[in-house]
Amino acid sequence: MAGRIAFVLCEHYLMEGQAVLAAEKMDDAVVVTYPARCGRPPLTREELSTLIGSQTDVEQLEVFGSCCLKNLGDFTSNAYSIHIHKSEQCFHLVADPVQVDHYLNKGAYLTTPGWLANWTTNMERLGLNQDTAREMFAETTTGIVLLDTGVDEQSDSHLQTFARYADRPFEVIYTGLSVLRLLFTRAYLTWQLKIQQKRAAAEIQDIRKQSATHAMAMDLLSNLALIVNEIEAVEGMLDVYMLLFAPKRICYLSHEEGLSDRLWIRPKEKIDDAEEEAIKNRMAGFPGDSGYTESGRGFFLRIVRRGEVRGVIVIEDIAFPDYLDHYFNLALSIVNICELPIENARKYEKLLETEEMLKRANDGLYQLSTTDALTGIANRRSYDEHIELEWKKMMRNNTPLSLIICDIDFFKKFNDHYGHKAGDNCLHTVAKSIRQIVTRPDDFVARYGGEEFAVVLPHTKEEGALHVAEKIRMAVAQRNIPHEDSAAAPCVTLSLGIATVQPPRVAGLSSASLFRAADSALYEAKHQGRNRSVLQKIEAEEG
Ligand code: GH3
Ligand code: MG
Ligand code: MG
Repeated sequence: MAGRIAFVLCEHYLMEGQAVLAAEKMDDAVVVTYPARCGRPPLTREELSTLIGSQTDVEQLEVFGSCCLKNLGDFTSNAYSIHIHKSEQCFHLVADPVQVDHYLNKGAYLTTPGWLANWTTNMERLGLNQDTAREMFAETTTGIVLLDTGVDEQSDSHLQTFARYADRPFEVIYTGLSVLRLLFTRAYLTWQLKIQQKRAAAEIQDIRKQSATHAMAMDLLSNLALIVNEIEAVEGMLDVYMLLFAPKRICYLSHEEGLSDRLWIRPKEKIDDAEEEAIKNRMAGFPGDSGYTESGRGFFLRIVRRGEVRGVIVIEDIAFPDYLDHYFNLALSIVNICELPIENARKYEKLLETEEMLKRANDGLYQLSTTDALTGIANRRSYDEHIELEWKKMMRNNTPLSLIICDIDFFKKFNDHYGHKAGDNCLHTVAKSIRQIVTRPDDFVARYGGEEFAVVLPHTKEEGALHVAEKIRMAVAQRNIPHEDSAAAPCVTLSLGIATVQPPRVAGLSSASLFRAADSALYEAKHQGRNRSVLQKIEAEEG
């Protein structure tokens, strides 16, 4: 509420003060008087405070007087601001100082309507009776002069009575109210100007605050764009609202496929199921897409995208309810932007899910396509990819590469004798035996064809490869799988062909030539009687 200005002056000028306020229509001004100081000690600060204390809403004091104010000095107060207007003569409030001096120099006793209205009391206060008054006036004055401000019709008759009493000649000088009017108006306008400046400063502050909130909103919103997880997106959106509107509470009810889902409350608080249900019901019951809440200090927004409700937000008891409209509009303008990250996060999470499923499916398919179903080891296709890879590595690293082809001896006969099922089991056992021997991380075992297995040994020279081949052969033999029809042994045996390439002697060679050499070695092993390992030299083209 706007405050008031108080014009404080001697009781003798009460009528003048009030007349000026009325004439100037200073509705927010009040006149406060202090008892005349003539014959009394000057006004004190305590007296002044007591006088003002009885007035409400006074924020500006304009204190007028002469020597009666000499003890006030310059002082300030927390309750109001004060201007002390101290003139040489109190008559300067109603008359031009030159005029006043002129009459005083002539020895005139100056009076005003207010003083004259109470002249008998004033005489008593000065301790004078008619005799002593006449004596004093005769000695010190040449006559009585009324500075007539025109506020009291009785002034003339009071003057005459008093002049007769004091036995002095009298004179009336019409001064009117122009001097006091000027003094009051100047003080009043200065005060008004101060108020306007304050208001303008507050408005500028407001505008600055509003643009700051906008800037802050934009900043926060740009951060939201980086979020790809729904919980973080909702938390981020609530952060934006908390920072912008500083409400006592925000509730957000997320929706999934148009149906209310999870309730979020800020600041976070624990509520029981019944309370949660009540809040959800209240939020569901808000009419329309947006509006103010029942309290009038908050608002709600329904986020709708493509005709489907995505969420409802209630912002309650914002910090500056005076700006409710402004904040409401701001919220309306950013609500959809705020919701985008949530939408994005959902899409992103779905995308991740789909990607994950796809990856699992692909992994499964890859596994299927590269693994031999019967033995569980790599298949021919996998061998083809792997040997190319190892060939390149061998070239790059300049390290030897060996290949062993293992073939079960007389396997057709085994099948014929023991049955196809037993043949399958035998294949499984042989694969397992090879795996148990070939254990270095870079080594690789595949079922190359029917009863043939390929073993790829990177960084392995001929001797090493031969050693591994022999270990495999013995491991399978030690399984002692009966094979009555084998001409090589009474149990299942392997023949193994080995070939090794040794960089840089690889000119004109390829992984296929390595295989051919190993296969040729295998043929030689069969030829020599089976159940053995044979190494084939592999020749590079002449550089
Ligand atoms: P060799 O000692 O000369 O290698 O004689 P072999 O009988 O082992 O060779 P051959 O190539 O004549 O026969 C290979 C047999 O391997 C033929 C086929 O019945 C058998 N075979 C190939 N794949 C499978 C399979 O998946 N399961 C079973 N049970 N037998 C298979
Ligand atoms: Mg074979
Ligand atoms: Mg065979």
